[in-house]
Amino acid sequence: MGIIDPNFKSDFLLTQTYFFMNIHEYQAKELLKSYGVTVPAGIPAFTVEEAVKAAEELKASGATLFVTKAQIHAGGRGKGRTKKSNSKGVVLCKTVEDVKATAEALLGDTLVTIQTGEAGQKVQRLYITDGVDIEKEFYLGITLDRAKSQNVIMVSTEGGVEIEKVAEETPHLIVKEWVEPGQPLHGNQARRLAFALGLSGDAFKQAVKFITTLYAAYEKIDASIVEINPLVLTPDGNIIALDAKINFDDNASYRHKDWEELRDISEENPFEVEASKYNLNYIKLDGNVGCMVNGAGLAMATMDIIKLSGGEPANFLDVGGGANVNTVKNGFKIILSDPNVKAILINIFGGIVRCDRVANGVVEAVQDPEIAEKVSKVPVIVRLQGTNAAEAKVIIDNSGLNVISAVLLKEAAQAVTKALAS
Ligand code: GDP
Ligand code: MG
Repeated sequence: MGIIDPNFKSDFLLTQTYFFMNIHEYQAKELLKSYGVTVPAGIPAFTVEEAVKAAEELKASGATLFVTKAQIHAGGRGKGRTKKSNSKGVVLCKTVEDVKATAEALLGDTLVTIQTGEAGQKVQRLYITDGVDIEKEFYLGITLDRAKSQNVIMVSTEGGVEIEKVAEETPHLIVKEWVEPGQPLHGNQARRLAFALGLSGDAFKQAVKFITTLYAAYEKIDASIVEINPLVLTPDGNIIALDAKINFDDNASYRHKDWEELRDISEENPFEVEASKYNLNYIKLDGNVGCMVNGAGLAMATMDIIKLSGGEPANFLDVGGGANVNTVKNGFKIILSDPNVKAILINIFGGIVRCDRVANGVVEAVQDPEIAEKVSKVPVIVRLQGTNAAEAKVIIDNSGLNVISAVLLKEAAQAVTKALAS
């Protein structure tokens, strides 16, 4: 934020704070399979009985090894452990009985992985797959490179469970190709990527086809991430996706009515689910300063201001263009239901929406009995700029409420610092 301190480096403008929808591995694999991507046979199971039935079905089709995989919206399951049974989240099973015992251990237990945080995630679904013999594990990922405004396809020979470490310590082992969105992946690019995996002969050809098919699927399904880790080479020379992660780009949700069916609300943050009912773009974060802003860019800038003032953002909340009393009220309720919140910063730019209307909305919201009690303990700092900003300031200042008005960003930041210190 050059406005305050030209040397301050934004945390949020440089990282990806975007709205995306997450789905389970089994859903991702079924979707990718429908686009021609090679995945092992597998059957989802919600109960121990279903898991046993799934293993029996796979066995009837020739499976001699099974993998019982916890389905949670987080990776790192292979290295994770469940709290009660101390089971791994991905377990190789030799027999149907093993699948049964593993399903009993996993279902209902809480799996803690490097991605879930200490609280972990309750296992409510399993995926029973045909176990694949592995010759080599690779990494293959596709996402949008926002710095280049192009899609990037990344491969590495160092696939498997340690890819984060590779990205951190030996980034040169990740080979990338960029593609203009809307354009197909060129054959020579796919070949370069397959070559970087050290493949030759039929496996090389299969990898080229796999990468090309996966890229086409990524574009067609409006994904923001498709990640195959590991992509494996089997001893008989086949290339197959052992794991699959897909995030959808929420901006495309209007043309994917099918996504709603894939949603698993039990995996989502309850505050975020509540916010989505009111059409609020809300993401829960771990900090202590709640914020309510209109426009995603301003929201990210506001989160930077919070950091600069010594706080940590408790959330990302974009109330959108038409902020009114109801959006402000609902926004308040959601922010205040987070017990970590020690102060709230409202930063609204009055363009289409007039500041005096937002100010009246804030005053009315703060007087709502449900909000009033909590707000009495949490200072609210309001910065309204733009159309009718002066009138808005008068409304806030004369309200007699525990609301502090600020005109400059710097003042808002100082007010947050003061609020946190008190
Ligand atoms: P993650 O830990 O959540 O990423 O779960 P993965 O699906 O990637 O599985 C973790 C690890 O389990 C993989 O890297 C493999 O080493 C192993 N694994 C998964 N499926 C199979 C399989 O079918 N056969 C064998 N031999 N290993 C597997
Ligand atoms: Mg994996």
